[in-house]
Amino acid sequence: MNLHEYQAKEILAKYGIPVPPGKIAFTADEAKQIASEYGDLVVIKAQVHTGGRGKAGGVKLARTPEEAREKATQILGLNINGFITKKVLVAKGLHIAKEYYAGMILDRVSQRVVLMLSKEGGVDIEEVAATRPQALIKYPIDPHKGLRPFEARELVKRAGMEGNLNKLADVLVKLYQAYVGIDASTAEINPLVITDSGEVVAADAKIVLDDNALYRHPDLTPLREFEAEHPLEVEASNYGFSYVKLDGNIGVIGNGAGLVMYTLDLVQRCGGKAANFLDIGGGAKADIVYNALKVVLKDPDVKGVFINIFGGITRADEVAKGVIRALDEGLLTKPVAMRVAGTAEEEAKTLLKGRPVYMYPTSVEAAKAIISMTGGTK
Ligand code: GDP
Ligand code: MG
Repeated sequence: MNLHEYQAKEILAKYGIPVPPGKIAFTADEAKQIASEYGDLVVIKAQVHTGGRGKAGGVKLARTPEEAREKATQILGLNINGFITKKVLVAKGLHIAKEYYAGMILDRVSQRVVLMLSKEGGVDIEEVAATRPQALIKYPIDPHKGLRPFEARELVKRAGMEGNLNKLADVLVKLYQAYVGIDASTAEINPLVITDSGEVVAADAKIVLDDNALYRHPDLTPLREFEAEHPLEVEASNYGFSYVKLDGNIGVIGNGAGLVMYTLDLVQRCGGKAANFLDIGGGAKADIVYNALKVVLKDPDVKGVFINIFGGITRADEVAKGVIRALDEGLLTKPVAMRVAGTAEEEAKTLLKGRPVYMYPTSVEAAKAIISMTGGTK
């Protein structure tokens, strides 16, 4: 789950990291009002779930309340990488001397949280990482010991950072505490600013939370913004499905995350591309299968559906009944290839006899068939 910059900054502040004071505005007049409260340089920043706002014109400085209103007018409604700006953060402006970068991600290879650090922070950090990886220090943190202040100080020195090294190191230690404390999967401060007067301040913050750990943080759950997610993912989650929109054209429905992942791989290996991941879970009844079809077929990219069910506690005849209901209601306007095996397989075959739904004895045959029915391999 992505957080907005202002939400991420609130969390960092709770962990003791200095952030500029700021408030959210939904209109240009609100932005003007907030700017007049700060009475000095302010920065107006689009709050959208995407990076690169600065380069897209979504971050602007203003020196007077009237200028803040003008800049907010320009930013509100701005389309940044497909996200429409509906609110802006109006924050006290910083007088920047240096822009550094500090980030943490979970590295699955070392199975550790890795701290990344660079003295070349700011809007071009991706380019720095791509063209001069030596300018970005990577440091796996020992999960038993955490990030200790002396390690953080050494890293700050190694990165060639200038200014108050203790203050910089302290931000890193607290960033790690925040990362672990809220079960983040990414936490980034870019830029980590040294101001003209030598203060160390997080001028921007990006936090992604681990969805699987959200249940441990009921206070963070309300930060989820449904409009920012794919509408079909929201609809599917209301039905209780795990649904992930992908960029292919073959809808996939299966039971069990492992089988669905296998099905995605299979479609790919046979030359097709899956439009989604959808796991109907164990013991699904006909209505669940029907709802799953409804969600998958709402995706305009879908040209055909591959239903791959292993009947264990899920009964194949229930799956067939769900498909039949979709057929009877005229929902199934696209080709469907099915492979159902296991519990009540014969009953399912009997139910589907004479229906325009193709059944295949193996997953591979079903995959190849749906790919050819939807226009062949690419
Ligand atoms: P991003 O482009 O989405 O990462 O947005 P940032 O919040 O990182 O802002 C982009 C750039 O705007 C920063 O790298 C700074 O150079 C500049 N910027 C952001 N906040 C301030 C501020 O308070 N004062 C000044 N002078 N520049 C700022
Ligand atoms: Mg930034």
